[in-house]
Amino acid sequence: MASSTSASPREHLQTLPGDDVRQVMWRFADRYDLQMLVQSTRAVARGPVARLVAEGGRHTHDWTPEKHALLKEFDAAGITAAYLEPEEGGFLEGPKNLALALIAFELAWVDAGAATCSLATHLGLAPIHERGTPEQRLHYMSLAAPAPDREPKRAAFALTEPIPYVGVETGMLGGKVRIAEWPEGGEPILEVSKRGRFITNMAFANFVTAAVDSDDPRIKGSCMVILEETDPGVFDRGTPTRKLVHQLSATNDPVFQLRVPASRIVGGYTVKDGVLIPNYDHGSIIEAVFRRTRVTVGLMTSAKLLSSIEPLIRYHRDRFRGSEAVSPGSPRYELGLQQKEDVTHRLIDIWAAGEASASLGFATARLFDQLDPIEREKDRVLAEQGVHGGMAAVKALRKRQHEALEFIEMQAHNAALRNEERFQRLAADPVIQYIVLDAQANVLCPATKLWNTGHGSVMMREAVSLMGGYGITEDCPGFLGYKWMDSQLEATYEGPEAVQRRQLSLTMTNEVFQAQFRNWIHEMRQIASIEPGTGACTLASAMHLWQWTLNHLQHATDSNGQKLYQSNRQGVTFPMADALCWLLAARCLILDVEHLRRHGAEVIQQGFRGTVDFLTDLCHVQAAHAAGQAARICTELVFGFLRHPSWDDDPQCAACCFNEPELRQIESVVPGASGFTGDYFREDGGHETKAGPCVRAPGLADFSRLRAKLDGCLAGALLAKDRAAESVQKVMIPAALDYPQ
Ligand SMILES: Cc1cc2nc3c(=O)[nH]c(=O)nc-3n(C[C@H](O)[C@H](O)[C@H](O)COP(=O)(O)OP(=O)(O)OC[C@H]3O[C@@H](n4cnc5c(N)ncnc54)[C@H](O)[C@@H]3O)c2cc1C
Repeated sequence: MASSTSASPREHLQTLPGDDVRQVMWRFADRYDLQMLVQSTRAVARGPVARLVAEGGRHTHDWTPEKHALLKEFDAAGITAAYLEPEEGGFLEGPKNLALALIAFELAWVDAGAATCSLATHLGLAPIHERGTPEQRLHYMSLAAPAPDREPKRAAFALTEPIPYVGVETGMLGGKVRIAEWPEGGEPILEVSKRGRFITNMAFANFVTAAVDSDDPRIKGSCMVILEETDPGVFDRGTPTRKLVHQLSATNDPVFQLRVPASRIVGGYTVKDGVLIPNYDHGSIIEAVFRRTRVTVGLMTSAKLLSSIEPLIRYHRDRFRGSEAVSPGSPRYELGLQQKEDVTHRLIDIWAAGEASASLGFATARLFDQLDPIEREKDRVLAEQGVHGGMAAVKALRKRQHEALEFIEMQAHNAALRNEERFQRLAADPVIQYIVLDAQANVLCPATKLWNTGHGSVMMREAVSLMGGYGITEDCPGFLGYKWMDSQLEATYEGPEAVQRRQLSLTMTNEVFQAQFRNWIHEMRQIASIEPGTGACTLASAMHLWQWTLNHLQHATDSNGQKLYQSNRQGVTFPMADALCWLLAARCLILDVEHLRRHGAEVIQQGFRGTVDFLTDLCHVQAAHAAGQAARICTELVFGFLRHPSWDDDPQCAACCFNEPELRQIESVVPGASGFTGDYFREDGGHETKAGPCVRAPGLADFSRLRAKLDGCLAGALLAKDRAAESVQKVMIPAALDYPQ
């Protein structure tokens, strides 16, 4: 295949990437149902939501009638029912992760509070959806479906409790459940007491899924229970949280003291020796819920970054128009602030980060769409073998891990060079496929949540700064100031950054993930050999450096002999998790642009080449950023725990330093050789003015070689940035922003 980047002159971007481009990149070009959902959600976002923001709806944290009216808009647009199965009142067949991701993206393009509001009912339903009994699922999911004759029932999810109790990652629960009555041969009645903190939707939720712990020897462990507003007892919605962000969602600190039948335990229970045993503890339900819902949160911040591009270009371009001193046709009139390189280069950084985070988020959402049916199939296969979840399932999966590794190894070879029959058998085995995809999902989900929101909020600040004073006013087009603040909540709720880093530090060392990561390095090199302008080679070198470093850290100790890679050494594990996220996001962007290059030409006529060339340059820019971050982090970790040699060290100094007569001897044999080191003692005992002899670590020669190679791989990245910046000067944009409508 000819390389578009190297063989022919590059074209400029003509217009901002439209729906046709996004549908191909994010792989829903063949999903008419999702395209329609995007359109109807966009109409709500850029219409009623944008109007409410523009009219000052965010100025209060109270839940107002105007905010409440948005719920009906969500219902009418199909947003509320998007989570439901057709038999429950929904309209989308099959897994819905990508659908929910697209909804979050469209709403957050305008206001992430509205996105949170729309998705919080799905979050409240998620424990029932993931782990509920068939009866619970049908009952509550159907209640949540909008119908012509009644308001749908809305849900909330109550895990977080007032300080000092539970946050997202802790197993300690203040909420309690006891058995109030247990009629002979009948169903137990539970007494549930739970106080929530920061619970979304609580101003209007009709039912709540709440995490509680047993306070009764007749109940084992923890569970989640469904609480309804009409249950006997106290269903106090509590005071509104005085939020600075996401004011278009309702957040309260509720108090519940209710009696409910035991059938409300999510996922049901069994009774053994007079003890009620919930089928699922709260931790396992929450894990299943968050691993999906965190992806949509990550995409909210991506939407904001990409939504800032058009208003920024318009602001910069128009900056001096209207002044008598600046006449039409002059560069100052036509380009405004875009004449200045810093403005366009920083915009490219924001744009590349937005693209990469969207690519990572949508790739993760699609991965869950792939994983969901395989997970069910895996459960069925294991159940046939008498394995029903818990530790037994973990053991059964572990036993087959070597086959998953074999499959991944075979994936790297072409069909002619492998045992194809064996490969196809492994490819069709749901247990093997589950192990492979699950290892990916366990990394990609926290990576999306962590990087998209964390780095996203840093880049949102950059977007605000590029708007000057306008950026921090309510009048800023695209509501950039609000979006910047909001992104900090996205980085916090459903588990703050440390929680994601903790998860990554465990899941990224999984052998099955590491094996796939090795294949991904190879995949990047292959792309680079055909499309060198993507920066895929740079990225591959950075991925190699990262993998080498991880392996090194897992075996290395610091200069005090303490193990480096261990759970309580977050100063080691967390930066490695951060570095990985950079790499994954850049990889996903390259894959999306490659997909567009191969499949876009048939559907995108207008300006296709310019769009692909521009996005290719963004890939290169982002790959270089990712490589730089990974290299910095890895180098710091590899060298930072070594003790720097000092001039006073003996015998170390004797091993790494010369003395002057020795150097003279060397010089007599190899003239000029003495100039290569400053690490020697003069005859008067003095030495060069520096901290000590330079560090020499023979065991790290491989690292230094990889690092030096990576530095060279950065060649061309800033040429790509220059080209992309030029495109930003030339791209056509509409005369005005299309929201509020
Ligand atoms: C507007 C809003 C809406 C919300 N909606 C809901 C909802 O609907 N339902 C619900 O249940 N909850 C909800 N929450 C709660 C939210 O999920 C938590 O606030 C969030 O998970 C952070 O927990 P925390 O506030 O207890 O922070 P903390 O856990 O106290 O974190 C404080 C800091 O310590 C760090 N930290 C925490 N643990 C570790 C660790 N192990 N290692 C290293 N560092 C650590 C964190 O990264 C953070 O920087 C909402 C919160 C807000 C603000």
